[in-house]
Amino acid sequence: MIETAYIHIPFCSYKCDFCDFAAFAGLNHREGEYFEALSKEIKGRLANTREPVKLSSIYFGGGTPGMVAPEYIEAILDQLASLVELAPALEICLEATPHSVSEQKLDRWKALGVSRLSVGIESFHEEELRSIGRDHSREEALRGLELALSSSIPVVSMDFMYGLPTQSLESWRATLDEAIAFSERYPSLKHISAYGLQLAEQSPLYGRFPKDSDSYPDEELFAAMMLLLIEKLRQAGFVHYEVSNFAKEGFQCRHNSTYWKNQSYLAFGVGAHRYVDGVRSANWRSFNRYIRGYMEDEFVEEIDRETEIKEAVMLGLRMRAGIELADFYSKYGFRLEESRKKAIEHFSEAGYLSLLNGRLAITDEGLPISNSIIVDLI
Ligand code: SF4
Repeated sequence: MIETAYIHIPFCSYKCDFCDFAAFAGLNHREGEYFEALSKEIKGRLANTREPVKLSSIYFGGGTPGMVAPEYIEAILDQLASLVELAPALEICLEATPHSVSEQKLDRWKALGVSRLSVGIESFHEEELRSIGRDHSREEALRGLELALSSSIPVVSMDFMYGLPTQSLESWRATLDEAIAFSERYPSLKHISAYGLQLAEQSPLYGRFPKDSDSYPDEELFAAMMLLLIEKLRQAGFVHYEVSNFAKEGFQCRHNSTYWKNQSYLAFGVGAHRYVDGVRSANWRSFNRYIRGYMEDEFVEEIDRETEIKEAVMLGLRMRAGIELADFYSKYGFRLEESRKKAIEHFSEAGYLSLLNGRLAITDEGLPISNSIIVDLI
């Protein structure tokens, strides 16, 4: 059963220097054209989907979905409601930048059933925001956040980044302190995401901060930032449920959990990736190519058993609860703890993995090297 749909809205007010998503600035005059293609794609792909669909989560990501007129969001929701069954406790999440939020939009989103709003803050420091090419200021971040948190949207999430050029451990601590202060003042702030900066090979950010620039935190500082994040948010009552995600108990993001549990999900829009009927596929990343061929795939991969197992290990270890080994065996017929015994022992002795009560999980200390651990285990 497919329970989740992702809708990609690619419009942004400015293309941030670190961003490698299918996101475009200066294309707002083509919104009508885009939503027409998107609507045709939704209809076409749902007609071709064999797995039954009952959605409990619809996620508008981007790009900046908060930037477009709420009427477009409404039309997509109406279309989905007419084509598939929706669960009574449907979660609708929408991503926004702080300067795309307004009182009028918040009221409209609430009326449309938006139950989670994810606001991309990235940093509370002016210099860091400028360093990564964000087009909002600290003041705008605070204003947008106050508006979102004072609205009747039930759950608000903030997104941050660390490992930024010019960022220090102290400036990161100050950003986290400010985020925690917001969560103490506003009960709707139930979720915080924080991603370590990872740049594509040809990132525009290298134009100002070349790869070998001293402005980037080194490995040691990066690890210290990650551990500080975990320590402070845990102390503030957030559950660390995935490498980059923290939530108040019971407020984990349903949509993202679908990815991490390796379950099927629908996705529509330019560059959108889906996992349906045992096949991963992605739409064209080029805006024009998508408009011309919204039902064409730029990438298709049939997921065989071996790939499915590797993905289950990779995604399972991103969850802080780790992998329940008995479940893993009953699902895949594969005893991970036996076939990867040597690697598990090696990382456990170093304090980077824990194998307790039938669960294999990466420890806090192992998180900064989680990618190497996962590569060794698959
Ligand atoms: S606002 Fe988000 S999606 Fe848009 S360019 Fe910046 S990082 Fe990318």
